[in-house]
Amino acid sequence: TVESDGGECNNDMHSDQEQRTLPIFEKFEKLSNKVKNLRKEHTALCNEVKNITTDSFPGSEVFTALQNLGEEHENLKKKYQEECQTLKNRFHLECSERRRLYNEVIELKGNIRVFCRCRPLNHDEITKGSTSVVDFESVQENELKIIGSDSSKKQFKFDHIFKPEDNQEAVFTQTLPLVVSVLDGFNVCIFAYGQTGTGKTFTMEGTPEHRGVNYRTLEQLFKESENRSDIMRYELFVSMLEVYNEKIRDLLVEDTEHPAKKLEIKQSAEGTQEVPGLSEVAVYKTDEVWELLKSGSRVRSVGSTNANELSSRSHCLLRVTVRGENLVNGQRSRSHLWLVDLAGSERVGKIEVEGERLKESQFINKSLSALGDVISALASKTSHIPYRNSKLTHILQSSLGGDCKTLMFVQISPSSSDLGETICSLNFASRVRGVEHGPARKQ
Ligand code: ADP
Ligand code: MG
Repeated sequence: TVESDGGECNNDMHSDQEQRTLPIFEKFEKLSNKVKNLRKEHTALCNEVKNITTDSFPGSEVFTALQNLGEEHENLKKKYQEECQTLKNRFHLECSERRRLYNEVIELKGNIRVFCRCRPLNHDEITKGSTSVVDFESVQENELKIIGSDSSKKQFKFDHIFKPEDNQEAVFTQTLPLVVSVLDGFNVCIFAYGQTGTGKTFTMEGTPEHRGVNYRTLEQLFKESENRSDIMRYELFVSMLEVYNEKIRDLLVEDTEHPAKKLEIKQSAEGTQEVPGLSEVAVYKTDEVWELLKSGSRVRSVGSTNANELSSRSHCLLRVTVRGENLVNGQRSRSHLWLVDLAGSERVGKIEVEGERLKESQFINKSLSALGDVISALASKTSHIPYRNSKLTHILQSSLGGDCKTLMFVQISPSSSDLGETICSLNFASRVRGVEHGPARKQ
């Protein structure tokens, strides 16, 4: 029994043990299932995480963006190279076209032009009974005839003739091709010549309502440099000076009470004529130009009782310097455009004047004939050009001759009371053109 007891007891013990281990076993099962499930969940989560990281790993975005940028860059580079080539081709075409047109003009006419401008009869002349001695109609285009008091007729031919009714715009339209050529690197000189009161200052400076060549030129240079801005970069500078009694005075000095010391002409290492110390003002837009030019002419008349008094006895030179940079080939250039309002050309009787006034008129005579000599020597292609005979021609030396362009406005009065001076001016202008006037054609 013991055995059986024991057996029984054993059995009992076993079942008892079983009884006690079963819940653990179940617990274990349960736990291991839970772990299995957790493992599944974990794997799922891991996969999910893996998916998330490959999909939106920021590095990959940067990589794609970089790739796109690279492509874009290549495209831009290609486009830029193509555009550059087109611009280069256009530039070369334009250059050769300009050269061709320029040569054509030079072959036809030379690079000296003379325009004649006749102002209207003024109120005073009309009330005094003066009549017009200028006949524009009975002659060919660009010719005019002067009917003298002794019924003699003289005929003159010019590159263009402006009648009293022609306005400032008409004058500038004819001048425009010349002034714009300063942007192509040409030096240009424009003069207004004539007796006092014939409209030299009116043509060059003008009035606020009827602005002249000076202002219109700068306005046009701004416009044209803007048009060319894909190929060229331009900078414009303005200087203004006066030559009075062979002395040079800066007209753009700020302090008119203490004007800068006397200016002199010096030859630079490159052989060009420079005026060291002359003010040069950079100009950027049309708005500021009129005031600047006005301030220059105000300085011009300082020290004279009557504004027209001194200004008629001095030469006023406006210089526009153009610095250009070719954006295609990097070439740089500098050229000058001179706009000159000359002293009155009227002769003064030696008996009537003496002292200071006589000295002045001698200086004026000397410099105007020096100018006439230089231009006519250039027109007739003489080898020696007498630049050094006056300050006026000496300053302008680098801008007169060679492939520089010259334009002279010969200003005349239509009045019978000015006949003598008008004939003198027209003779001077004809000499400058290199063509002496012929005898009047029989009608
Ligand atoms: P200059 O400078 O040759 O001495 P101005 O330019 O001072 O002559 O002109 C003298 C006067 O004649 C001024 O009052 C000017 O306004 C007037 N004048 C000159 N030319 C013309 C023109 N083409 N049309 C109208 N008025 C003019
Ligand atoms: Mg004047």
